[in-house]
Amino acid sequence: MSTGVSWGRWPRYDQRLIPITNRYQPLPPAGPMLVFGNGRSYGDVCLNAEGTLLTTRSLDRFISFDAASGVLECEAGVLLSEIIALTLPRGWLPAVTPGTALVTVGGAIANDVHGKNHHRAGSFGNHLLGFELRRSSGETLRCAPDQHADWFAATIGGLGLTGMISTARLQLRRVPGEWIAGDSQRFDNLQEFFALAAQSDAAYEYTVAWLDCTASGGKLGRGVFIRGNHVQHDARPPRARSLRLPLTPPLSPVTGLSVRLFNELYFHRPAAQQARALWHYQPFLFPLDRLLDWNRLYGPRGFFQYQCLLPGTEAATALPEMLRRVARSRQASFLVVLKQFGNLPSLGLLSFARPGVTLALDFPNRGEPTLQLLESLDVITRAAGGAVYPAKDARMAAQSFQQYFPAWRQLQDYIDPKFSSSFWRRVTRSW
Ligand SMILES: Cc1cc2nc3c(=O)[nH]c(=O)nc-3n(C[C@H](O)[C@H](O)[C@H](O)COP(=O)(O)OP(=O)(O)OC[C@H]3O[C@@H](n4cnc5c(N)ncnc54)[C@H](O)[C@@H]3O)c2cc1C
Repeated sequence: MSTGVSWGRWPRYDQRLIPITNRYQPLPPAGPMLVFGNGRSYGDVCLNAEGTLLTTRSLDRFISFDAASGVLECEAGVLLSEIIALTLPRGWLPAVTPGTALVTVGGAIANDVHGKNHHRAGSFGNHLLGFELRRSSGETLRCAPDQHADWFAATIGGLGLTGMISTARLQLRRVPGEWIAGDSQRFDNLQEFFALAAQSDAAYEYTVAWLDCTASGGKLGRGVFIRGNHVQHDARPPRARSLRLPLTPPLSPVTGLSVRLFNELYFHRPAAQQARALWHYQPFLFPLDRLLDWNRLYGPRGFFQYQCLLPGTEAATALPEMLRRVARSRQASFLVVLKQFGNLPSLGLLSFARPGVTLALDFPNRGEPTLQLLESLDVITRAAGGAVYPAKDARMAAQSFQQYFPAWRQLQDYIDPKFSSSFWRRVTRSW
């Protein structure tokens, strides 16, 4: 048994790790088992306490790539960063990328991840041409929109429970090069954010905002909005260099005071207001990948991310209520992201992304006070008819999950009898 951890470094469980090194390798005879991609989920969706984790990073082979059509077939342990390294020089990018490129194709399917272009492109599953699903029975199902379509829908956003995805076929999108041009603008309140999002969605491929969650009173809801489009440019790409946080500090430096100071500087820095900006795609799409292991900053007790979706009709009232609650709690978060999702329906039975506004906040794990704060945010999300993202969650109550994802009972018909996860056992118990 070894301790498998996810990105939030909490909870930690003993699990048996079995490497899958070839896509035809038989699955172990006994469950409960679960695939572990690259552990970039924050909570327990990729954990399986006392069970088996099938680690798939060695399923890293490319099978085919057609540079004329942008169709790529690869094994499910390939990272999006590895795809980009192969296809961007030929003018193609994965059509949807989350805020880190260090996720596997299998993980991107199982959480049906979204990116800064959700308003245009929907989520990862919308660009999936098909995949192979290995079941513990020994059967392999080839799934596509017109082949085993119900298994296709159950596996997209299916939280890894329907079996092991061994290979996938993706439709990539054409881009003119490595650069993104756009602008950044400060906004002083949420009305200004909504106005910017409404103006920008038609003209910009990528839109996203950073929010100052320590601001209150007249400054409540202030932040910085950035937007951009792919462009061809002959500037020399920056040297790709990542730093690594070498150790876990015994106490987290993320405190109310440090976050207030950081936010004040971040909001007022000159780059927050630029009429014309040019970004290399890496810092624009994957800003956090420049500091590897940054999750250690939160200290030995780890941290939580709270990412919710609030339907458009409710967001204007629910968001300020949430921000006031966070500001009052003094449990500040400096990585706060606000993004307007679009209307393209997700294909997965349990996909998270849907029309509305998504807010993501990180909080150091301070035990009961943090759990109480997050539950109080859930009260607002539930009343608004929203949802919390399983990929980021380690604590939501079963009652909340079952309200957020009413199709969870339908998923049960597709769950492999030998697959399970700590997340699933937690959110499907009766209450
Ligand atoms: C810095 C950072 C930024 C992020 N930004 C975003 C964002 O903008 N948008 C977003 O949507 N997400 C975001 N995420 C979350 C991340 O994209 C998802 O959690 C993603 O699913 C992680 O992929 P992974 O390969 O690490 O899979 P893991 O976290 O290891 O596993 C995730 C799920 O996929 C299942 N799984 C993995 N491989 C397979 C397989 N081969 N077959 C079947 N099931 C499988 C696992 O069982 C598990 O249920 C971010 C995460 C980080 C750390």
